[in-house]
Amino acid sequence: MTGIVYLVGSGPGGLGLLTFRAREVIDSAEVILYDQLPGDEILATLPETAEKINCGKFGGSHTLKQEEIESLMVDRAQKGKRVVRLKGGDPFVFGRGGEEMEVLREHNIAVEVVPGITSAVAVPGCAGIPVTHRSHASQVTFLTGHEDPTKEESAIDWGWLARSPGTIVILMGVKNLGMITRSLIEHGMTAENPVAIIERGFRPDQRVTIGTLSDIAEKAREAGVKPPAIIVIGGVVSLYRDGSEGAWSRS
Ligand code: SAH
Repeated sequence: MTGIVYLVGSGPGGLGLLTFRAREVIDSAEVILYDQLPGDEILATLPETAEKINCGKFGGSHTLKQEEIESLMVDRAQKGKRVVRLKGGDPFVFGRGGEEMEVLREHNIAVEVVPGITSAVAVPGCAGIPVTHRSHASQVTFLTGHEDPTKEESAIDWGWLARSPGTIVILMGVKNLGMITRSLIEHGMTAENPVAIIERGFRPDQRVTIGTLSDIAEKAREAGVKPPAIIVIGGVVSLYRDGSEGAWSRS
């Protein structure tokens, strides 16, 4: 009898935003393969009895390659185990959850997806920035900032993006922020467009940096902005008020 793999999203950090279903499958798991992104508060509550595999620091040092994670998942499921693959936010938003589901399907392993609250919406939200708003944005685009916009083979249409109205939410964008903002301006987006960077959303040391498309990269450099962070571009950023972060950020 083969086991089952639960592809679980932990939410953006902290036990308060972990779903009941996630809690249930985590608590009854025999094997848990986890990333660091769910954060210490959640990782501290993984059951004693489960085999716990840290995909970020396997054997105390090296990061597991995607193929290694997948083959460990397949191996444990084929041994009949109840396996949880625990990821930050939602497993299908820039989390390779889709790829993992495909591999499990290829091996005829049962999969249950447990959606999580994605940081792409919740992190701006907890800083008082709604990703849509009737007066500011009727459209929102989620984007990985992992891609170098100066590369010709970029899968992102920067010209289209620069012309599109509404909100742009960038995940994994800290490293390429300078290139991203330059590219958007070059493609015609107004340089005064407001930008917010929210680092470590829902953690006690959450921090928000505000600027415009033209100066945010410099401000981020000065402030020493580090991942994980969400970058929000667009009129909704004007709704941000210093100190309007939820009680989460001060707990
Ligand atoms: N599946 C996740 C995203 C994984 S990609 C989700 O749905 O949230 C990893 C990126 O998510 C990080 O580089 C960062 O941009 C963002 N991220 C996740 N959690 C975050 C948090 N608590 N605060 C700020 N950014 C976060």
